[in-house]
Amino acid sequence: MTEAHRPLSGQKAIVTGASSGIGAGIARAFARAGAAVGINYRSGRDAAEALVEEIFREGGEAIALGADVSDEAQVQAMFGAFLGAFGRLDILVANSGIQQDAPFAEMTAAQWRRVIDVNLTGQFLCAREAVRTFLAQGAASDGPSRAAGKIVCMSSVHDVIPWAGHANYAASKGGVAMLVKTLAQELAEKRIRVNAISPGAIRTPINREAWETAEAEARLLALIPYGRIGEPEDVAEAAIWLASDASDYVVGTTLYVDGGMTLYPAFRGNG
Ligand code: NAD
Repeated sequence: MTEAHRPLSGQKAIVTGASSGIGAGIARAFARAGAAVGINYRSGRDAAEALVEEIFREGGEAIALGADVSDEAQVQAMFGAFLGAFGRLDILVANSGIQQDAPFAEMTAAQWRRVIDVNLTGQFLCAREAVRTFLAQGAASDGPSRAAGKIVCMSSVHDVIPWAGHANYAASKGGVAMLVKTLAQELAEKRIRVNAISPGAIRTPINREAWETAEAEARLLALIPYGRIGEPEDVAEAAIWLASDASDYVVGTTLYVDGGMTLYPAFRGNG
């Protein structure tokens, strides 16, 4: 990539849940775009360290950061470790997320709480630490970006599409959508930009059973007008744009990266 194509040059970014799937794709793409990247993992230490090495081999900068995003003390320690290594923070991508699916009548309180804890409280804890850091760095900072800081939250098309059998997940993402808008409204005057990405079906371990057999893939493709399953790189391109000065006037938006999944494809030739 030439300098002109390095829109995150000189910036420092934390990507949560970056040992796998969409987060790993974003971390890799951010490093190529010029950012130094904190690669957060919870259990995937080997994968996170392998990604750090890959980024080093390509001439980038990265550090692996173990932390459970639902644990306040671990989140604070993670931000401390990142600032110790890189000295400042410009971008947070709050991406960590899990599913624990069950028919509603059978869903346990533990399944409900764990998904809300990771997918929603985890985003709150990481965003709060990022905002504290941005505010401490201050408007006086002559940082590498027009904004004082940028936050990109990973939501889902299930912040608008109801999802039977996944009430905890859909509720967590609906919560993320409103968290993002409220933070954006509150923090814009501090020149902190908060936006969200809502992916459709992206080929990662979280939804393996939805694409790993030909029959499952055909059922999934019927929901995607654009006719293909998304890849982590599709989401990474959107994340680079939302984190870069190219989107400097974009505040409180949710960008749907879904091949048209939110366009009610069941209505094609129907209704
Ligand atoms: P994935 O399972 O490959 O990655 C999830 C990541 O989150 C992993 O790195 C995992 O280690 C991390 N994680 C899980 N619990 C954690 C915790 N307590 N603390 C820190 N990290 C934790 O799945 P993915 O598809 O890459 O999902 C990434 C995000 O994208 C999630 O928020 C998910 O809800 C969202 N999303 C995915 C899709 C899709 O189709 N794949 C669609 C919409 C939204």
